Amino acid sequence: NTRVLTGITTSGTPHLGNFAGAIWPAILSSRQPDVDAFYFMADYHALIKCGDPARVARSRLEIAATWLAAGLDPERVTFYRQSDIPEIPELSWFLTCVTAKGLMNRAHAYKASVDQNQAQGVEPDDGVTMGLYSYPVLMAADILMFNAHRVPVGRDQIQHIEMARDIAQRFNHLYGAGQDFFVLPEVAIAEDVATLPGLDGRKMSKSYNNTIPLFEGGAQATRAAIMRIVTDSRQPGEPKDAENSHLFMLYKAFATEAESATFRRELETGLGWGDAKQALFERLEQTLAPMRERYESLIAAPERIEDILQAGAAKARRIATPFMQTLREAVGLRRLA
Ligand code: ATP
Repeated sequence: NTRVLTGITTSGTPHLGNFAGAIWPAILSSRQPDVDAFYFMADYHALIKCGDPARVARSRLEIAATWLAAGLDPERVTFYRQSDIPEIPELSWFLTCVTAKGLMNRAHAYKASVDQNQAQGVEPDDGVTMGLYSYPVLMAADILMFNAHRVPVGRDQIQHIEMARDIAQRFNHLYGAGQDFFVLPEVAIAEDVATLPGLDGRKMSKSYNNTIPLFEGGAQATRAAIMRIVTDSRQPGEPKDAENSHLFMLYKAFATEAESATFRRELETGLGWGDAKQALFERLEQTLAPMRERYESLIAAPERIEDILQAGAAKARRIATPFMQTLREAVGLRRLA
């Protein structure tokens, strides 16, 4: 079976981009007979960018409830919280010790911070923590812990998967003595899954505060956010440039091809932006409303979610604990007798 692994950072409220780009395709993939899916809440990763404990705590609950409400079957999938698996930070340290500093110097997230600092004329490493700097190693540990074959990610993450491969190869080479501990993970870029734009047109992202919430705040919150999507100033009756409109991109991610073709024609023949936003909202609600009902009853029963996560952690550790023991032996951390 193919092992597929995906995580979502618990740094805020899950949004349409997380759903269309990660959660929904992951749930469909987990239903295939030859797939073993590992889906987790990346709460250690959340600490890198988010210093707000209440937000991290709330986000863990919201993201867990979102996965379950969207139809994830915890019997089928290994569904866990990163921080419930102590073997992950331990592996992360093992990997840190074989990772060249030069490799981390090239990581996009780190380089982007350095470039921004240079543009602002401050010290290159100003505000850069070791968490941000070495986060590709933690991500490698997430993947290698479960020997995932396939990691579906957005384009911005390709480099990190390549780094995970490099690190795995280095560890295999140093300690393997002919035996490979780690499978080399493959990137899986879903060509048909678009990166959804946020309210301001940049990538929709928890860290940009430009998101359309999925379930939180009820349908009103989703609708209110949709009404704030930035559009051009073309009036009702004027033809719209559907292909380049963020609103149409969002619609397409949720609708069938036939529905999208109809909507495009309506935009191109002068549908007003206000009506277009209402149509987007209604199309989204067809998909989201039943899930939101489940979400609301889940979020009101956090103890049920906690039980599911504890069971998921136990399942994950049935793999992680013995594997970590093998790796400890391999690096020389053995019992004396
Ligand atoms: P953060 O800002 O905390 O990094 P994020 O909202 O950008 O968060 P992540 O938690 O990093 O999202 O990503 C979780 C998954 O959601 C990833 O697989 C990512 O590709 C997907 N994803 C995130 N944003 C979008 C988007 N705008 N469009 C499509 N997919 C997205």
